[in-house]
Amino acid sequence: MPSPKATAVAVFIALALTASACSSHSETANGRLAGVSDGNIHELPTYFAVKGVKIDSPTLKRAQKAGKLIIGAKDDQPFLGLVDADGKRSGFDIEIAKMVAAYLGFSTDQIEFRTVDSRSREAAISKGDIDLYVGTYTINDERKKHVGFAGPYFMAGADLLVRMTDTEIVSPQSLAGKKVCSIIGSTSLREIKKPKYGAMTIELSKYSKCVQALLSNEVDAVTTDDAILKGYIAQHPNKLRILEQPFTKEPYGIGMSKADKALREAVNDAIAVHRGNGDTRKAYYATLGLSGSVYPEDPPLERY
Ligand code: GLU
Repeated sequence: MPSPKATAVAVFIALALTASACSSHSETANGRLAGVSDGNIHELPTYFAVKGVKIDSPTLKRAQKAGKLIIGAKDDQPFLGLVDADGKRSGFDIEIAKMVAAYLGFSTDQIEFRTVDSRSREAAISKGDIDLYVGTYTINDERKKHVGFAGPYFMAGADLLVRMTDTEIVSPQSLAGKKVCSIIGSTSLREIKKPKYGAMTIELSKYSKCVQALLSNEVDAVTTDDAILKGYIAQHPNKLRILEQPFTKEPYGIGMSKADKALREAVNDAIAVHRGNGDTRKAYYATLGLSGSVYPEDPPLERY
């Protein structure tokens, strides 16, 4: 006999497949058709709240009682986690958050998104200010001392953004004496501070501020994950370029309370289900894929 969990997963897949077959959505993450003609469909999937998945998680019990799931995210990263002028959130991370919430039994309108920047993530999770965090959050051992991670759901790598007119920065090895901007609390800043690069670091609170500093010649380069930089290129296509020489590995995880192992397992199950039914791929092409990048290989889930 299939376990109740397996049955719930099967029902979920069936519902999701029916939904995508009947879906009349033609909206992209930007709220309009992007006109990208690469043979992929750039439409957001619909995710359904599912009853019947039993998860013995203290975080979820609290969220169920409150009738909402509080998810931390970024607000200035186009294609990943962005808040537009109308206050609407869009991006691949936002879609990952919605699909995970659906698996956990929360509809999209039962999610309360809160903006949490890189430097405040561990504190926001540990204090219980947010239930989950989905925002280009690299899984690493240092962070695992403070928070739990499900995933990875995506693999990025640190790269460099420079002005289109720049001819001097051709690789991470040409940063000696250059002003490189990144943000406090990020793995990117930690990496670029290593003496081997010889860079002068400018440390701000948000990547969008680094991009402004690059556009106004206050810094020579911005470093963070290639996935994030692609979004800024889309905003300034004739002014900025990315080196396309990733020099680190950044596996993106979903952050949560370190103590809540049941939630970690359930979120890993949610990632697996939505990979399996094609939602993740579809969501990618409606968000990050608008940058022209191809859906990458799914990194294996780290179940610990
Ligand atoms: N993925 C890196 C990190 O988690 C850089 C992006 C970010 O700051 O969110 O630190």
